Amino acid sequence: MGKIAVALTDASPGSLAAAEAAELVELRIDHLGADALEGLVERFRGRCIVTYRAAADGGVDGAVAEADRLALLARAAKDGRVAYVDYELGCEGAAPPAAGRAAKLIVSRHDFERTPHAKELEQLRAEMESTGADVVKIVTTARAEPDCFGVYHLFEGASAPMIALAMGEYGHASRVICLKLGAEMTFASAAPGRESAPGQISLDDMLGMYRAGEVGRDTALYGVMGDPIAHSMSPAIHNAAFAQLAMDAVYLPFRVTDDAAEFTRRIFGEVGLQGLSVTIPHKEAVIASLDRVDPVAERMGAVNTVAATEGGLYGTNTDSAAACDSLEAALGGSLEGRRIGVCGAGGAARAIVYGAADRGAEVLIANRTRSRAERLAAETGAAVCGPEELAGAGLDALVNATSVGMAPNRDSCPVADEALREGLVVFDTVYNPLETTLLARARSRGCVTVDGMEMFVGQAAAQFELWTGQAAPGGLMRSVALERLAARTQEGG
Ligand code: NAP
Repeated sequence: MGKIAVALTDASPGSLAAAEAAELVELRIDHLGADALEGLVERFRGRCIVTYRAAADGGVDGAVAEADRLALLARAAKDGRVAYVDYELGCEGAAPPAAGRAAKLIVSRHDFERTPHAKELEQLRAEMESTGADVVKIVTTARAEPDCFGVYHLFEGASAPMIALAMGEYGHASRVICLKLGAEMTFASAAPGRESAPGQISLDDMLGMYRAGEVGRDTALYGVMGDPIAHSMSPAIHNAAFAQLAMDAVYLPFRVTDDAAEFTRRIFGEVGLQGLSVTIPHKEAVIASLDRVDPVAERMGAVNTVAATEGGLYGTNTDSAAACDSLEAALGGSLEGRRIGVCGAGGAARAIVYGAADRGAEVLIANRTRSRAERLAAETGAAVCGPEELAGAGLDALVNATSVGMAPNRDSCPVADEALREGLVVFDTVYNPLETTLLARARSRGCVTVDGMEMFVGQAAAQFELWTGQAAPGGLMRSVALERLAARTQEGG
């Protein structure tokens, strides 16, 4: 199993406390200063990596003379308290010979611009292996998520222990996936904002959310693909569920900008992903990568869940099922023959209208852009009305599937109060805020309300069950999502 090294760039009490919790501590001397070395080596005796990055390789101490930098590294390499010492490729000739070293020699190459092509990477690895390094470290910059595949393939046929990962947001997942592929270690920051390299994950997230200390060759990989993806709550809730069930599995965010179908084929085929959540804007494009699609999702033209099965890649839409299940739970029975009013004709509305029509409901669509509602109605056999007509439509349930009422426009409401009669089921797909203006008004008028978190957690729980065959811990998933939402609200999101 790979190790997690905290990259220590400052000696504040918070950063030192984080380093205490880590298996390895990378002492970035270019940040910390040469005078700090002795005290830190003593403090992290037996588990420190000494790195004195040259300015040309991303180091911050531009004033140090090269001879002094190399002399410090050579002293560290002979120090029995130091676990590893890191020399950039080309400088390793200045390291003491193997017989005179106490620490393991990492020979490293960082590319802050790009990820070289696979062939170039292989040649680089061979050159680095020939230096006699104990560990070869290749770190590139991912300009797009597919860049990571070249980095992953470096582990195949490596003759020395390796560290290989990609920097930047597009490389986020590679920092954990490398552990499954056999990396000697990966790196984490002491805290958000203290990164020593772009895209570094904080130690809290590495150990807490991703349980990266337990990731190894048998760990099952899952993830979510979208753009943007940085604020997705899905990694937090799925990883919490894996932890609760003590499963050897991890769920990672993949920021994929272009060609979602190609990425999907490759991440399942080349890295062995077992399940993928799909979010905006790829729910339609992903279908081209699938071998089988659930009939409702196929008609809808939107897949939010992909699973690796014996028959190849299978796609379905758990948004649709989760929304319909929430409605049925609130109505106390099947949607068959019920009259459901849906505000909206975008992605969320499509999932609900298709699902409800499939379960035999009579659906009425009201959308700002009427032509869009008409198209959706024609596809599903639903009817179209103006928002003002919803009040007299004899509805059993009313769904808001527009973004009206979502933060920051919290005061807006998609329907007039007259549409909210006592006993009506009112379901708002918006979950930020959880209690929307629509739900507050509906509750005060005696309606039965369902918040957007029901659908969000429901779709995630259904994914979890499809992938793992185990009952999802729905209560835990909901409380983790609510915590994330509260943190995001505090940050002003
Ligand atoms: P979308 O495809 O962009 O569709 C947006 C819908 O909102 C369209 O019908 C649009 O009408 C309507 N709309 C936007 N601004 C409006 C305004 N000022 N007045 C009236 N109508 C307006 O987005 P989506 O993916 O369907 O998402 C819609 C909402 O569903 C979001 O708030 C999202 O948070 C929520 N959602 C929740 C979940 C969940 O799990 N709970 C999942 C997915 C989405 P036009 O057609 O006229 O533009």
